[in-house]
Amino acid sequence: MTDDPFENMLAQMDRAEEYADVDHGIFERLKHPERTLKVTLPVELESGEVEVFEGYRCQFDSARGPFKGGVRFHPSVTQREVEALAGWMTWKTALVDLPYGGAKGGVICEPKELTDRDLERLTRRYTEGIRRMIGPEVDVPAPDMNTNPQTMAWMMDTYSMYEGYSVPQVVTGKPLEIGGTPGRVEATGRGVSLVTERLFEYLDRDLSDATIAIQGFGNVGSNAARLLDEAGANVVATSDVSGAAYDPDGLDVAALGAHVDAGGLVEEYVAGDLKGSADRSRWDDPDAITNAELLTLDVDVLIPAAVEGVITADNVDDLRASAIVEAANGPTTVAADEALTERDVQVVPDILANAGGVIVSYLEWVQNAQEFSWPLETVNAELERRIGDAFDKTIEQYDTKDLPDLRTAAYTLALERTAKAHEYRGLFP
Ligand code: GLU
Repeated sequence: MTDDPFENMLAQMDRAEEYADVDHGIFERLKHPERTLKVTLPVELESGEVEVFEGYRCQFDSARGPFKGGVRFHPSVTQREVEALAGWMTWKTALVDLPYGGAKGGVICEPKELTDRDLERLTRRYTEGIRRMIGPEVDVPAPDMNTNPQTMAWMMDTYSMYEGYSVPQVVTGKPLEIGGTPGRVEATGRGVSLVTERLFEYLDRDLSDATIAIQGFGNVGSNAARLLDEAGANVVATSDVSGAAYDPDGLDVAALGAHVDAGGLVEEYVAGDLKGSADRSRWDDPDAITNAELLTLDVDVLIPAAVEGVITADNVDDLRASAIVEAANGPTTVAADEALTERDVQVVPDILANAGGVIVSYLEWVQNAQEFSWPLETVNAELERRIGDAFDKTIEQYDTKDLPDLRTAAYTLALERTAKAHEYRGLFP
């Protein structure tokens, strides 16, 4: 088994092919990205040194509409990873029925070692590098790991400077002041929370007091934790790069959120070294555990919300959660997937579980096109309707076609929709 994310995505497609109503020729076509641009990015850092970075933008498929997908800044970015993530965006937008294709971008860098000015220069240089292939009707980037509304503002500004006028619609996930939408920052976490609630309804289980472990407390993990906590679930463990905190009685999610927002690490939180205004009054002595231990906790739901490839053949036998909701992209390898299916562990696949982000990106893009803005309630209601609908359709596919697992159900729907678009459009010339 490989830990190459692209091979993993292809293997997921292969698992679904036997159940999907898709012409084999089109299926083979869907295994190849339309194009990938690699850019070299020399940047003069604040230290005076020049560092040469490497970045990518992969446009995987556009049969259903403009390319759509985030940009990540991370030391482990590779071309293959970006291509896998672009493929997953294609299946995600198809599954939740947005009029988009799929794309992804990435820059190999360690953002923690860069100043704000360095990050601005790197972002602008990257935007210049991919400028000819993006645009409001062509390819619309958004935030992903280590990128945020400020990154999107720099991208939007750089693109707009070349165009000669403001083009907010070229990226989504912008600050509110320049065409962002209310609800986008927490959208992915909100979607994760909504599908977890739906899963419990489907399984006829009570979410209140269900125990939940969340690997990762970044934008997605922290918002999912907060919303699940509000929904009555018991978040007992979470983590970041420094380590994990575990309290079988439940973590004080609000206090941990305030601590992390003020720049604190989970490790410091466990040690009682609280940052900012965090007040751990309700806190009852969390244990420090490792990220690996968090994955094997005896909980009702495990939510991987960090990087890909964390649930593998090596640790799957040790996992004790009865359900997994994939907030990260590609957290489960195909070998682990097969073992989980055999054990009847329900896995809500990434392309459904984390689709809240791109759904609200779409709502932002639509508002930009209309030059009109919606209130938060409208955005959240539309998010809930769309992700709920995709959840119901996935369950219907799973039940009526008697499919092995929810990922296969989601993939068959996504592949059939994308293939249909290819079929109608035909081959050029
Ligand atoms: N990066 C997010 C994802 O993986 C959001 C993409 C977007 O909003 O375009 O789904």
